[in-house]
Amino acid sequence: MAWSLLIRGGTVVDGSGAPGRAADVAVEGERIAAVEPGLGGQADRVIDAAGKVVAPGFIDMHSHSDLFYFGCPSAESKIRQGVTTEVVGMCSFSQAPLRPEQREVVRGWAGGIGASLDLRWETFAQYLDALRAMRPSVNVAHFVGHGALRIAAMGFEARPAGPGDLRGMERLLGEAMDAGAFGFSTGLVYAPSAYSETTELIALARAMARRGGLYFSHIRGESSMLLDSFTEAIRIGEEAGVGVQISHVKASGKDNWPKIDAALRMFETARARGVDVAGDVYPYNAGSTKLDNMMPAWAHAGGIDKLLERLADRATRRRIVEECLIEGERWGTVSQGGIGFDQVFIATCRRRELEGLNLAQIARQSGQPPAEVLMNLLLEEKCTVGMVSFSQSLDNVAKVLAHPALMIGSDSIPLYEGDGDRPGKPHPRTYGTFPRVLGEYARERKLFPLETAVHKMTGMAAARLGLRDRGLVRSAAFADLAVFDPATVRDESTYAEPHRYAAGIPYVVVNGAVVVDNSQMSAARPGRILTPAP
Ligand SMILES: [Zn+2]
Repeated sequence: MAWSLLIRGGTVVDGSGAPGRAADVAVEGERIAAVEPGLGGQADRVIDAAGKVVAPGFIDMHSHSDLFYFGCPSAESKIRQGVTTEVVGMCSFSQAPLRPEQREVVRGWAGGIGASLDLRWETFAQYLDALRAMRPSVNVAHFVGHGALRIAAMGFEARPAGPGDLRGMERLLGEAMDAGAFGFSTGLVYAPSAYSETTELIALARAMARRGGLYFSHIRGESSMLLDSFTEAIRIGEEAGVGVQISHVKASGKDNWPKIDAALRMFETARARGVDVAGDVYPYNAGSTKLDNMMPAWAHAGGIDKLLERLADRATRRRIVEECLIEGERWGTVSQGGIGFDQVFIATCRRRELEGLNLAQIARQSGQPPAEVLMNLLLEEKCTVGMVSFSQSLDNVAKVLAHPALMIGSDSIPLYEGDGDRPGKPHPRTYGTFPRVLGEYARERKLFPLETAVHKMTGMAAARLGLRDRGLVRSAAFADLAVFDPATVRDESTYAEPHRYAAGIPYVVVNGAVVVDNSQMSAARPGRILTPAP
């Protein structure tokens, strides 16, 4: 036999959770042809995997890379983690559907932290065609954002959807599903998704139920409202008859940390009564989002321009401070809980000298109260500031990672490529999520066996998405593969020095093409825009 690629001498951890076994992996074209020990025969290319693990390429269950593919189709910071498929269109954000007259509103809403969006499409199908033509290195499973549906159907309005609005959203959701969306996502802390009532979300979920769509939920609140928010997400799935994925499971704010146990039990009780609910998590105790998420949802009504008007108005600023400032020293929001200003770091900002500093430090430097610093910064930088915030417990991170209903999603925002100095102090999950689970949590802390770690980032995720031919190393599956050294694989990216690629992942194969080759990027861009199984 002549294979196009033969990966010889490794230990296959096949993604099912089964124990690793010695086997060669032969690839013909874009699919795996055989997985057996001692495969002979000719191959155009042979990779020696002695001492290495050969696993399915990792599936990032939750990513915001869709805002960055057009500027960085190589997706190097992601694929060098071993990721071969990304789930995007998360937290209510997607670049389509789009009404042309709302282009600038959408640009301010979905862009703003380094993403340059050209937004030259209207329908979700046109957008996916543009993405397909651009060919990212990784496969993409796209969801449509509830925020995008809402803006297109009813504008950026702070009100519940009326019957006509709902019909408009259902039609746009149907079109997106026809084009290849896997379902829809909410970001119920982000305007305008936050303006929806539960009934609106149940109606939308019902509209896609017969197509097998999934509902991905960034829930209503991850701090004091955590348990009520879990209840709401599960109710939407249960009443509509669709699967629910709770995104980046966490409890934010120290007072809320103990609630994580009750939240995790809700997965079990809901699953026991037949609700299809699962979740994803990133292996860090800091989160990252746009700094303007520190403002209450009502202040975002109408979009970024309106928010900037409000931030320029003294009375409105007073109202924001009265609502959010706790005991003069912490800032309370539905997503962060009550967070200290010293726990909120500037990740990306046009003023590079602020990157890496926290709001308390900037306040001391400028002699202004931190709340004023926060609002002034948003105003001056027109809300184009990204933040990293430490609101979670490391013990909880381990608990959530270990839970059997949870898989791995980076929640990473930007993509980077190349070497040397790059702008910003992005969250290290941008470069390190998957190797961190393998190195820190499986090998060092022994939180779970390597096979379980791999399963959570491959076979489990593929099954969740209904991807029948991916997520497993077996004959006839697509040849999405990650070859890593189980003794050395680790994340190198830190909060202080984030721009570092992971170590110990020398080869990554997407659809049979070697994209990471001996730890170097090749020119191959074999990614596909995936569509749900019929
Ligand atoms: Zn989110």
